[in-house]
Amino acid sequence: MKRREFIGASLAAAAVAGISSCHIVPPRQSRSKNGSGAKMSLRFYPYELQLAHTFTVSSYSRTTTPDVQVEIEYDGFTGYGEASMPPYLGHTVESVCAFLSQVDLGQFESPFLLEDIMAYLDTLSEGDSPAKAAIDIALHDLVGKLIGEPLFRIWGYNPVKAGPTTFTIGIDTPEIVREKTLECAGKYRILKVKVGLDTDEQMISTIRSVTDLPLAVDANQGWKDRSKALDEIFWLKEHGVVLVEQPLPKDRLDETAWLTERSPLPIIADEAIQRLKDIPRLKGAYSGINIKLMKCTGLLEARKMIAYARAEGMSVMLGCMTETSCACTAAAHLAPAADFCDIDGNLLITNDLFKGVTVRDGLMVLPDGPGLGLTKL
Ligand code: MG
Repeated sequence: MKRREFIGASLAAAAVAGISSCHIVPPRQSRSKNGSGAKMSLRFYPYELQLAHTFTVSSYSRTTTPDVQVEIEYDGFTGYGEASMPPYLGHTVESVCAFLSQVDLGQFESPFLLEDIMAYLDTLSEGDSPAKAAIDIALHDLVGKLIGEPLFRIWGYNPVKAGPTTFTIGIDTPEIVREKTLECAGKYRILKVKVGLDTDEQMISTIRSVTDLPLAVDANQGWKDRSKALDEIFWLKEHGVVLVEQPLPKDRLDETAWLTERSPLPIIADEAIQRLKDIPRLKGAYSGINIKLMKCTGLLEARKMIAYARAEGMSVMLGCMTETSCACTAAAHLAPAADFCDIDGNLLITNDLFKGVTVRDGLMVLPDGPGLGLTKL
C-alpha cells in the first residue's frame, strides 16, 4: 500500500473505530547511516478489536479490546506489528501512541539491529511493553522478509512441532458455557477454562457434560486460600485438568511455592511474570511461566525467556491477549519451542486484519511465507 493510500485507510479505520484522526501519525523517515539510502519509517493507527463473545474472567468482563497497529517500512518491504491493551494492564491507545511518537528508528542502520533497537526502546521508558512489542514484531517481520524466510526457519524450529493451542472458555452461565463448549469441542484438542469464582466446579462439570477433552484452567489470581486451592486442584485433576495457571495472587510467592510443591498439576505463572528479569524470583515457586509478547516486549526477549526457563528446569507456556493474527502469528512462530500454547486471541475476535497462523484438526499450522507470513485481509 502506498503512503497516501495507507493514510486514507488509517483514517477510515480510525473513523470505524470511533477514534479521532489526531492519533494518525505520518511516517517518520530519516536516511540510514550506512549510505545505502534505505530508510526505516514507522507508522501506526488505533484499531478496536471486537470480541465474538463477552469475555469474563475472575475480575472483569469486556466486549472490545483497544489495539494499535504498527507498520515499519524499509527498503521496499513492510513489517507488521501490533500492540494489544486489555484494560487491566493499564496501557491505553493514548499511552501506546505517545510512546511510538517518541521513537526514532532512523538512527539505526537497518532492522537487523534488533538488540540495539530494543535496548534503545528500554531507554525511552521502563514500561510500555505492548508498544515495544509492536515494534519488535514489525522488525522481526521485516528481517524475515529481507532474508526471504519464515521466522521459525531462521530460528531453526520445526513447524510440524507447533502443536495444539488451547481455546479459551470464559466464565459464564451454564447455558452459555455448554453452548460455547459444543461450538469448539470438535475443533480443538485442549480447552482452557477461566475459573476463580465460586462457580468453578459448576463450570468444569458443565464442560464435562459435553466433552472429555483435556482442560487447562486459569484462575487469574482468583483463589485466595492455599489449602482450598490445593483441594480444588486435586478435584480438577480427577476431572481431566492438566495445568493450572496463576492460582493465587501474584505477590503471594511463598504460598504459591507451598502449593506448587504439593500440587499434582503444573502451576504456571502468568500475572506474576512479565519480563526476563522476573524469572529468577519465580524459580521454585512455579513449575513454569506463561510468556506473552505484550508483557515481555516481543520476540527477542521471549526467546531469551524460553532459554532461561529451560536452563532452570521450568516449563514454557506461550500465551497471548485478544489480538489480530499479526501478534498471534508472531507468538505461534515460537510454538515449537514451548510445552503449552494458548494462542487463540485471533480466534476470539470478529474483525481480524490478517490471515496467519491457522488451526487445523486442533493443531496450529504456521504460514510459510517470509517473516511472519501474514496475508492482509
Ligand atoms: Mg492467564
